[in-house]
Amino acid sequence: MEGFCPELQTCPCCGAKGSCRIHAYYGRSLVDFVGGTPVRHSLCILRLICTCGHTHAILPDFIIPYSGYGLFFLLRVLAEYFLHLSTVERLCERFSISLSQLRRWLDLFRVQKVEWLGILSSVEISALSFLKALSIQPAYSDFASAFVRRFAKSFLQSHRNPAPYCQQVFGP
Ligand SMILES: [Zn+2]
Repeated sequence: MEGFCPELQTCPCCGAKGSCRIHAYYGRSLVDFVGGTPVRHSLCILRLICTCGHTHAILPDFIIPYSGYGLFFLLRVLAEYFLHLSTVERLCERFSISLSQLRRWLDLFRVQKVEWLGILSSVEISALSFLKALSIQPAYSDFASAFVRRFAKSFLQSHRNPAPYCQQVFGP
């Protein structure tokens, strides 16, 4: 965020470049997994406003829009689930999540895996292989931004963005 330049951004709603300026900051919490236990962090999020009137929160890759859980938390839950390291009950207990929450994430992950890879490739590539491929990418941002360009929402984001939302430009 240190190198972030609001004046270089393109508005995801109206498409104008250089029309955004700093609007406000707001606090939000995010659950991460640190040292073998869930930890709640407090974050300060920058919000921009465009001359078209839309405001945009600037979320780094590790934040999934509309989710109170961080990206690394979700990826870790999914990886441990597919590695079968323990029972599902123990997994939920370890991460302090409900069984229904885990099922929602699994459903979301499976749907988005098919969307991203296509049906045929998704059959050939296991969930664990897909997760491994994501984790060893030299730049996760490349995958994250390509995903948003294709689907107008972030990887593992469950709720849709507002209708006119169309982010095409990323980076500081
Ligand atoms: Zn705009």
